[in-house]
Amino acid sequence: MPQDFLIIGGGVVGMAAAYGLARRGRRVAVLDEHDGSLRASRGNAGLVWVQGKGSGMPRYAELSLHSSEVWPEFAEELTARTGIDLEYERRGGVDLCFDAEQAEALQAEYRALYASTPALEAVRWSYLDREALLEHLPGLGERVHGGTWSPHDGHCNPLSLLRALYAACQSLGVDYRPATPASAIEATGAGFTVRTPGGTFTSERLILAAGLGGRQLAPALGLSGRVRPVRGQVLVTERLPQGGRLPSPQIRQTASGGYLIGDVLEEVGDDTGVTLETIHQLGERAVQIYPDLARARLVRTWGALRVMTPDGNPVYEASRRFPGAYNLSCHSGITLAAFHAEELAEAIDNDRLEAAYGDFSGARFDVQATG
Ligand SMILES: Cc1cc2nc3c(=O)[nH]c(=O)nc-3n(C[C@H](O)[C@H](O)[C@H](O)COP(=O)(O)OP(=O)(O)OC[C@H]3O[C@@H](n4cnc5c(N)ncnc54)[C@H](O)[C@@H]3O)c2cc1C
Repeated sequence: MPQDFLIIGGGVVGMAAAYGLARRGRRVAVLDEHDGSLRASRGNAGLVWVQGKGSGMPRYAELSLHSSEVWPEFAEELTARTGIDLEYERRGGVDLCFDAEQAEALQAEYRALYASTPALEAVRWSYLDREALLEHLPGLGERVHGGTWSPHDGHCNPLSLLRALYAACQSLGVDYRPATPASAIEATGAGFTVRTPGGTFTSERLILAAGLGGRQLAPALGLSGRVRPVRGQVLVTERLPQGGRLPSPQIRQTASGGYLIGDVLEEVGDDTGVTLETIHQLGERAVQIYPDLARARLVRTWGALRVMTPDGNPVYEASRRFPGAYNLSCHSGITLAAFHAEELAEAIDNDRLEAAYGDFSGARFDVQATG
């Protein structure tokens, strides 16, 4: 019997959609690649982050704020279903600035963004100088100028999130197929047929959530495959006593005590490696932020590729050429997971993706020549 939905890609975006649809009673199968494939969901920083999201697209800022507000309930529900603790915490966050120029630029960006639509008046933030930040970030180094603080931000263990989504999907009957890459997709009129080395799968509707795999798969379905890899490198220290410090994109202490250090954007194609130069720079900056880390030992480093659309904002789109085919690509799949599992899954289920989220279509990248 064909599935209601086939989802191509078992990262956090595909699994959140699978969870949302299965919870609504739909029959869902997820086809995924193997462990060696490109997987942002297994290499990210775990921030559930609102501040700064949506410059140039205030609606994305609204979605980020909304998702952060429903995240606590989402996390609770996943834990209740699976027994997996997502290590989710929402005590606020700080984006750090290292000089006055950077601080001015960040504040100007936030002022413009949060004044751009009445829906964003609810976003609370303020710029705090180093002295004021000490309350939130004890032991902050003297070379930090200050930072933007917001109470909406939080963080989680992204691997626990993914594990919980797999477990919850399994309990709801989702057919998850690892090492089953889609090699060809065909629209049959009655639905879709997907060929894989493990056999052929059919469904009434199909969701592409293949991350960077969308580059190959999306265009044939009349969907935007315009995503590019942007590498981040991440360092983790040994476990250290909890310092009570709020998370930031530059550094956060995980529930198990290790500090996770990152926040670099590198255009290096599909290379997931790490470089000594960047490890050195990240380590140096971490010690500027928290001088007490100078003697901390690094225990792990990795590189991972972000799934970046041309404007950095999400793509949610329904194919006009092949009704029933959808594409989901985004660079903040952890932050948006709660929204993806609820409102986005509902919009897809009701075939209202275009009506509800038409401004997120990849068609916005097809620039029309004028005059
Ligand atoms: C360094 C770094 C830090 C980040 N930090 C944060 C953060 O703090 N907060 C946040 O919200 N976001 C963060 N992100 C972004 C977040 O990780 C991504 O938005 C999210 O993981 C994207 O999930 P995805 O499911 O779309 O992609 P992926 O995780 O890449 O999953 C795509 C899946 O599709 C599969 N696939 C591809 N092609 C095929 C095919 N042909 N057939 C079957 N399966 C296929 C792949 O194997 C993979 O499992 C970060 C990303 C990086 C790299």
